[in-house]
Amino acid sequence: MAAVIALDVIVVGAGGSGLFAAIEAAEIGRRVLVLEKNPAPGGTTNWAIGSLSSSASPMQTAIGIHDTPAAHFEDMALFHGALLSHDNPDLRKVFVENVPDTLKKLLDMGVVFFGPMPEPPPRVPRMHNVPPNSRAYAHALYRRARELGVDIRLKHRVRHLLYERGRVVGVEAEADGSQHRFIAHRGVVLAGGDFSANREMKSIYAGKAIVQAGALVETSTGDAHQLALDVGAEIVDGEIVSGPQLRFVPPKVT
Ligand SMILES: Cc1cc2nc3c(=O)[nH]c(=O)nc-3n(C[C@H](O)[C@H](O)[C@H](O)COP(=O)(O)OP(=O)(O)OC[C@H]3O[C@@H](n4cnc5c(N)ncnc54)[C@H](O)[C@@H]3O)c2cc1C
Repeated sequence: MAAVIALDVIVVGAGGSGLFAAIEAAEIGRRVLVLEKNPAPGGTTNWAIGSLSSSASPMQTAIGIHDTPAAHFEDMALFHGALLSHDNPDLRKVFVENVPDTLKKLLDMGVVFFGPMPEPPPRVPRMHNVPPNSRAYAHALYRRARELGVDIRLKHRVRHLLYERGRVVGVEAEADGSQHRFIAHRGVVLAGGDFSANREMKSIYAGKAIVQAGALVETSTGDAHQLALDVGAEIVDGEIVSGPQLRFVPPKVT
């Protein structure tokens, strides 16, 4: 076991969510460590289309659209259809109220957007798209995190949460075949992406019909879900993946 390293916040995963969380913590003066199992940051974020739905954006204002988080909140329900009863209105509120600032921060980091594009049924165009593709997010976020002094360690796979007296106090990660312990005085953020490449989790939480669908990102193995389950968490709404928005993997070119 290598020497134990202690800091304020540990983030598991250097995708869009993890890098943004790291930046937010670093901007209020916390010492932050990001552990990423892959050799490069980005995860599924690198494979997204890259659209970001936001109200109150400078681009909306520039073309005379007056839009608010409250209108965005109402319109989001129009997308849900039969899944509306699964929605979490508190989380929806957190999203609509914070996404305008998120968009502005991304602009400040140098991310460029075109749009807003119409996205019916919402009442006004809200879809902001990132050229040339979604890799722009991880690129800009990684650069900003490094500027802020965030310690980002690639090829570090978090295997366990350290749990003491009812509280997560750190993580154990594997790198170069050895185990490393990291202590977080303030908190551990799990941002390890989805479980689309974990057949067992898909079978349990999303249903057997989905198991045959291949994963777009083979490293999306639900590690963070498992870490949380190991300390008593529960997974809810896993079956929503089996809705009509399922995406298919292109065949391998030989
Ligand atoms: C084809 C497609 C198109 C999409 N288009 C859009 C879109 O236009 N707009 C939109 O908002 N969303 C879109 N999405 C959804 C969006 O991509 C995801 O919701 C988002 O990228 C998730 O980000 P994340 O940071 O949570 O996860 P990820 O980006 O997957 O990042 C998780 C990171 O954690 C790392 N990790 C996992 N386990 C460990 C571990 N044990 N130790 C250390 N690191 C670990 C992974 O390697 C990865 O880098 C799309 C998704 C797909 C598949």
